[in-house]
Amino acid sequence: MTYANVIVDISVEKLDKTFQYLVPEELQEVITEGTQVDIPFGSRTLTGYVIELTDEPAYDREKIKPVLGIHEGSVPMEAQLIALAAWMKNNYGSTMNQALKTVLPIKRKTKQVQHRQVQLALPEEEAKKKLALLEARHNTAKARLLRELIGAQTLDYALVTGKLNVPAATIRGMEQQGLVIVETAANYRNPVAHLKQEEYQVKLNGNQRQAVDEILSDMREKKTRTFLLKGVTGSGKTEVYMELIAHVIAQGKQAIVLIPEIALTYQTVMRFYRRFGDRVSIINSRLSQGERYDQFERAKSGDIDIMIGPRSALFTPFPNLGLIIMDEEHENSYKSETAPRYHAREVAIQRAKMNQAFVVLGSATPSVDSYYQAMQGNYKLVELTERVGQKPLPVCEIVDLREELHAGNRSILSERLQELMEDRLQKGEQIMLFLNRRGVSGFLSCRDCGYVVKCPHCDVSLSQHAGGRMVCHYCGYEEPQPVVCPSCGSKYISGFKAGTQKVEMLVQKRFPNARLMRMDFDTTRTKDSYEKILQAFANHEADILIGTQMIVKGHDFPNVTLVGVLAADMSLHVPDFHAAERTFQLLTQAVGRAGRGKTPGYAVIQAYDVEHYALKTAKEQDYEAFYGQEIAYRSMMSYPPVWNLLVVHCSGEDPERLSAAAEALAAFLKEAIGQGTERVLLVGPADASVARVNDIYRKVIYMKTENYQTLVFLKNQMEYYRKENPLLSNVTVQYDFNPASGF
Ligand code: ADP
Ligand code: ZN
Ligand code: ZN
Repeated sequence: MTYANVIVDISVEKLDKTFQYLVPEELQEVITEGTQVDIPFGSRTLTGYVIELTDEPAYDREKIKPVLGIHEGSVPMEAQLIALAAWMKNNYGSTMNQALKTVLPIKRKTKQVQHRQVQLALPEEEAKKKLALLEARHNTAKARLLRELIGAQTLDYALVTGKLNVPAATIRGMEQQGLVIVETAANYRNPVAHLKQEEYQVKLNGNQRQAVDEILSDMREKKTRTFLLKGVTGSGKTEVYMELIAHVIAQGKQAIVLIPEIALTYQTVMRFYRRFGDRVSIINSRLSQGERYDQFERAKSGDIDIMIGPRSALFTPFPNLGLIIMDEEHENSYKSETAPRYHAREVAIQRAKMNQAFVVLGSATPSVDSYYQAMQGNYKLVELTERVGQKPLPVCEIVDLREELHAGNRSILSERLQELMEDRLQKGEQIMLFLNRRGVSGFLSCRDCGYVVKCPHCDVSLSQHAGGRMVCHYCGYEEPQPVVCPSCGSKYISGFKAGTQKVEMLVQKRFPNARLMRMDFDTTRTKDSYEKILQAFANHEADILIGTQMIVKGHDFPNVTLVGVLAADMSLHVPDFHAAERTFQLLTQAVGRAGRGKTPGYAVIQAYDVEHYALKTAKEQDYEAFYGQEIAYRSMMSYPPVWNLLVVHCSGEDPERLSAAAEALAAFLKEAIGQGTERVLLVGPADASVARVNDIYRKVIYMKTENYQTLVFLKNQMEYYRKENPLLSNVTVQYDFNPASGF
């Protein structure tokens, strides 16, 4: 590559602005993306970062000045992060700009003073829907604010009333509607500074000690870079993390702890704080860009040693990173849903490699991906097999809902569950009812025989579409929605609709004296409400907590002795090859909520498809048995992790042009594949599962092959092809490698 695009100022607003320089021949071998270089700039010599290398001169080649040399001195953090961004760009497909904006914190030159802020009060998806409504109604001021907030999450109040020209009354109105929250942001130097540090007392048990020693000794011998810590719920993984972190800090290094936002509770943060005091900081999505930048600056300057946070904490600019912990590594939220669609696990491993650091992945139910890597010898598997204090795992029983129906019980609670609930309520113990709502919309199932309407060509259920059509999201197959069950003729064939509210009503009717609490999307809208509900339940302010998957994470409830899963197999029929994995994980986690205290726990799993291996193995809490079945299925279907999958999302405003472009792209790919020697399966183009969003049409092409790098190669070929082909000029193309859901 002959030319280098260089950025001179690393503030995110200026990332787009690059200057091109010639790379002299003697430097062509050594300059890579991320390299810090000296360049002539006007009459001065400045330093900049190479963010892209290319063979294409951006302008008259005679006028392009040469790079003076590689900047002497240690590699600064920025160069490392830029190199990481370059790696992400290449591995996941995005622009360099998108990749840079993902890894570099936004530099803000505003002073840290007390100021009011406007915050988005809804999850992004919801907000987007609201935005569409507001736009349709020509509520321009409201729409403007919401649009900005969807990007920024938090905005200065002054900015909103000033630059955005949104009147104060409008903001108040939106606050009353629950769209935004206005609050006075304190000078947030340290989000956990107000917590009290207490003396730390926990002593590791034998099991934990062994796990720690095993990992430390492998680290010392540099045998492995990535560890998979598999420990049943309540086995004390967090203590193991903290012990490892203490070792790393003792060596003058720093640690990043990734925890999914939903599990990032006060309780969890407190545990780290009790042990490490104010050398710990946290970031979460509620922090403003400025606050996040602030936290990153503290990390850079050595103010803190440990950063806890969701996915984005991965990019904390620690000068001497030693360890990255990734708790609940199986969680979906570690995969980014915007370009670059990276998986935090892979990026963590890459970043660790660049820093000679280590990665510890932890889970009670490891992702099939990670366990597969461990089985292949790429990660080292370390296990915690017992709960702390030898507390037994809960006893679990599966109730067949078809039999309930045949016995005349139409209630959402089986006889058995009602009986157990009655008993626990009498004893003053607590109950959690878990409504599996994942993938609730869409598929049809028969309440008599459990039959699910599936695609005759693919191993997925058909999804309900408007106009009474059932559509396969894989191959486009379509059929009309059946009125009676094709298998048994029953008329009880329907989508599953019961929401948490309905469940609450029914449970209250059945147990009029029980105190109920509900946790779902509606009851956790405002800041801290999630935490408040969990805390109130922990204080025994309610006997029964009803909720969606939100309730399976985070807190310990010693007084919960019974867990009921209301419709366990609903998530099995989502058109997604991860359906069984997600179901197994959800059930295991849900069941694991019972019996954390003195009294042994009991769990009831209600389901239709009681013979499914995901349910049976979850009942036995037998991960290995589940994995064995699942990996055989993945292998048979050539799905990840055995093979790799690349989904190419094409979108555009004009359906005809989009079709033509997607066809052309697929034809090009077929030819490129034909020239290679590796077997690549190509499917598509087909309509995306949601074929139109906001009047933008969407198509997908997907490819499966054994070798990830083959897919990267094909992605790069597509990028060249796109630049040359006018057919593709009005079409957006995005890549999703090994998607975490929806396929
Ligand atoms: P996991 O993350 O594996 O679910 P935790 O680390 O949250 O498990 O531990 C479960 C509970 O056991 C916590 O309340 C924790 O404080 C406690 N615990 C963990 N290790 C020990 C230990 N060695 N001695 C006493 N209590 C412990
Ligand atoms: Zn039927
Ligand atoms: Zn199909």
